Amino acid sequence: MSQPLAPVERVGIIGGGQLAQMLALSVQPLGVRCTVLDPNDSCCANNVCEQIVGEYDDPDALRRLADCSEVVTYEFENVPATAAEIIRAICPIHPNPDALGYAQDRHLERGMFSELGIAIPNYRAIDDVESLQSALSELGTPAILKARTLGYDGKGQVLINDAGNAAEAFETIGSVPAILDQFVEFARELSIVATRSVVGDIACYPLTENVHRGGILRVSKAPARKVSDRLTEQAHHAARQILERFDYVGTLAVEFFQIGSGDDATLVANEIAPRVHNTGHWTIEGAQTSQFENHMRAVMGMKLGSAEPIGCSAMVNIIGDEPRPGALESMPEAYVHMYGKAPRAGRKIGHVTLNAPSEGELDALLERFTRVIG
Ligand code: AMP
Repeated sequence: MSQPLAPVERVGIIGGGQLAQMLALSVQPLGVRCTVLDPNDSCCANNVCEQIVGEYDDPDALRRLADCSEVVTYEFENVPATAAEIIRAICPIHPNPDALGYAQDRHLERGMFSELGIAIPNYRAIDDVESLQSALSELGTPAILKARTLGYDGKGQVLINDAGNAAEAFETIGSVPAILDQFVEFARELSIVATRSVVGDIACYPLTENVHRGGILRVSKAPARKVSDRLTEQAHHAARQILERFDYVGTLAVEFFQIGSGDDATLVANEIAPRVHNTGHWTIEGAQTSQFENHMRAVMGMKLGSAEPIGCSAMVNIIGDEPRPGALESMPEAYVHMYGKAPRAGRKIGHVTLNAPSEGELDALLERFTRVIG
């Protein structure tokens, strides 16, 4: 009998969105079958996986997922802690669910960065309008008020330009516990995606440069340009510290602001995502092994593949509307990923990756793509 390609044949995934879809697709060639748990019976992963339709806190659905899986992972950070406990009683779950609590709460997350000696923006914890007023007088304006929990893609946060607007700002985020960030005059936003295996090997993808608009990621370019050795060292050090802190198995992303430029440039960490990440989508066609396959290799106990880029890549999110008919076909160089989600304002419904052998050729391709897509 031939040896199985992977030591595991069945993987469960909590969440059935596009990340689960790409995780499942990454290991189809290895003969691995995935089952997703998602309350939406037309979730995007269900065209490539089996699905258990159920809520993330439904003990029965979680047990069914664990029963049909040899190992379980997750594709989003708001997995309830109780869900991880239910799974853990039946089969292994990776990455370590302890990381979830930190990613779900910006105050805990900032505390974790500090504890590990990773530089962060000046910030204060906010419980009410009074604490917000005193934080504003200490940190000044502009400042950004961010809800501690359940905020992503720029949601649950508000820019404060005038300390007199404290009460209004607190109400805007729903009068919930928050943090107040000093506004960072960053040169650009960078992220690092890294995977750690069961035996502690770490594969770091190159730093990626990210452009957000309205709090939503629009474009990522990798490898990021003009990255000093110091920036790479800072990013790798931060990723390693966090991965080891949680005895983490799987892929993780850390988002940074770059302050200054050239040899003076330095990084401050903004947040982590204990999962595969939108700023790592370019790795599907742009790296030796994608972030998705490496995540799955890690959770299945396999050796990691190389995280080396194969050239220069750009990933463009398709947000809100479908591209006009024929546009993508006229750009055969574009690797297109449509997630099968209904168009809706602000919603990520797909992405495109462009690859080129040099930065100049990539820029030309990106310019043509932007013109074609409109
Ligand atoms: P976040 O939800 O923390 O990822 O923030 C969404 C976006 O808001 C980031 O990608 C930045 O563009 C911007 N932002 C967040 N925090 C700060 C900050 N402290 N200073 C300046 N811009 C920020």
